[in-house]
Amino acid sequence: MEQLSVFDILKISIGPSSSHTLGPWRAIQRFIQSIQKASKLSQINTITVELYGSLAKTGKGHSSDTAVMLGLSGEDPETIDTNMIRQKTQLIRQSQSIDLLGIHPISFNPASNIIFRPENLPYHPNGIRIWAETDDGERLLETYYSIGGGFVVKEDEHPEESHHLLPYPAHTSKELLTHTEKMGGSILDILWENELTWRSKETIRMELLQLWEVMRDSVYKGCHTEGKLPGGLNVTRRAPQMYLKLMPDSDFRKPEEWLDALTQINCDTQQTLKWVSCFAFAVNEENAALGRVVTAPTNGAAGVIPSVLLYYLCFCKQQISEDDIIDFLMVAGEIGTYYKKGATISAAMGGCQAEIGVSSSMAAAALTNCLGGSVKQSLMAAEIAMEHHLGLTCDPVGGLVQIPCIERNSMGAIKAITASNIALDADPDDAKISLDQVIETMWHTAQDMSDKYKETSEGGLALKVSVAVPEC
Ligand code: SF4
Repeated sequence: MEQLSVFDILKISIGPSSSHTLGPWRAIQRFIQSIQKASKLSQINTITVELYGSLAKTGKGHSSDTAVMLGLSGEDPETIDTNMIRQKTQLIRQSQSIDLLGIHPISFNPASNIIFRPENLPYHPNGIRIWAETDDGERLLETYYSIGGGFVVKEDEHPEESHHLLPYPAHTSKELLTHTEKMGGSILDILWENELTWRSKETIRMELLQLWEVMRDSVYKGCHTEGKLPGGLNVTRRAPQMYLKLMPDSDFRKPEEWLDALTQINCDTQQTLKWVSCFAFAVNEENAALGRVVTAPTNGAAGVIPSVLLYYLCFCKQQISEDDIIDFLMVAGEIGTYYKKGATISAAMGGCQAEIGVSSSMAAAALTNCLGGSVKQSLMAAEIAMEHHLGLTCDPVGGLVQIPCIERNSMGAIKAITASNIALDADPDDAKISLDQVIETMWHTAQDMSDKYKETSEGGLALKVSVAVPEC
C-alpha cells in the first residue's frame, strides 16, 4: 500500500504548476544528480529533454522549459531566489550554454535541446525523457512521469509498493474513521502517531510552521504587488485592488504585523467573503508570476488552503495560534492523501476537480475539525466540497495558470467554508454519500472526461481567447 505523509501533499514550491513546473524540475534534478553520483558529470557534452503529452501542450504556459533549465543548472525550487529566475533563463537562452549543476558548462540551446512532443508516453500524460551523451559516446537515457502535485516517478518505479509501516495505515477515509473509533481518539491522534514514524515531533511542528510562513508570505506579497502577470495574456493582478478596498490607508512593515491587524478586524459576512477571495487571488497571482507558494495539493490550487486557514485564524478565532495552524495543515494534508491513493491529484488525469476540487475538500475537512466538528462531520465536509466540484474541467487559457485558475481558487475556498458550515449543522449519520464514494466517483468521472479537458488547452475556455505565449 502507498504510504503518504502530509508533507507529500504540502510542499514548498514555485509557480506556476506542480505537475508542469515542480515535477519536471524534480525529474531533471534526479537525472543530473544520478550522473554526478556516477562521477560522469564532467564527461557530459550534450543533454536533450523531451516533454510529452500535456507537458508539451501546456508546458510553455506552465514554464516547464524554465523548470528544465533551472533543474539542469542545479537550482532547487525551495531555495531559488524567485527574483532571479528570468535573468538566469535569459542568460542560458542568449549564451546557448548551461552550467550543469552550476559547475560543468556545456552547449545548450533551449529551442532545440528542449523538445515538446504532444503524443503521450504509455504510463501518464506528463512524460519526461532525458538524454545525455558523454565525450566517449556513451548515451544515458531516463524516463520520468510527473504524476501531479510535484510527485515524480521514474519508469518502472512503483511507489504504491511501499514497505514503510504505519501504526494506523489508512488507504481510505473509512479506515481512518475505524481507527479513531477503535482508539477512541480524534483524527489528529491518528495522524500524529503515523507522522511520528517519519519525523520527530519537533521536526513536524517546525516544517509545518515553515509551510505556513510560505503561505502567509505569498498572501502578503500578492496583496502588495501590483502590475500585470507574465505570459502574454495581459492579466492585471487584482489582489492589491481588492486588498486596498478592504483595508485602505494601511502600512505594515512585515507580514506578522499585517496578520495581527487582520485578527483585530470586525467585518460582516460580505466583507469576510471578500477577504477570503482576496487571499486566494493573492496566492495564485504570486503563483502565476513564478513566485514561491505551497503546493496544496497542487500549485494551480495553492490558494485554497491558505485562504481558508486565514479565514479560520482571522475571522473565526481572531488570533494566530501555532497549534491551530498545525492542526489545520495536518488534517488538510491527510485528506489529500486519500485522493492521491484512491484517484488522482493530476489535472492531466482528472481535470480541475483533481486540483481545486481536492484542495477544497482538504480545506473543508480541516476547517470543520478546527471548529470542533466530529470525525464524521469533518469527513462529511470533505465529501460535500468534492461533490460540488465533480466534473470540473481543466482548460487554462493560453496554457497559463491564470484564467480560470485564479478565480477558481476563490470559488474552491468559499465552497470549502460552505461545506464545513453544512456539515457542522448536520447529523453525519444521515449522509447518503461517503467521502470514499465521492473519491471513487471523481476517479470514474476523470476516466470518462475527454482529454480536451485535462490540462491540454484544447477545449473549453482555452479556445475562446488566443494568446501567443512568449519565452520566459
Ligand atoms: S484550470 Fe484548474 S487544474 Fe487546470 S491549470 Fe487551472 S487550476 Fe490547475
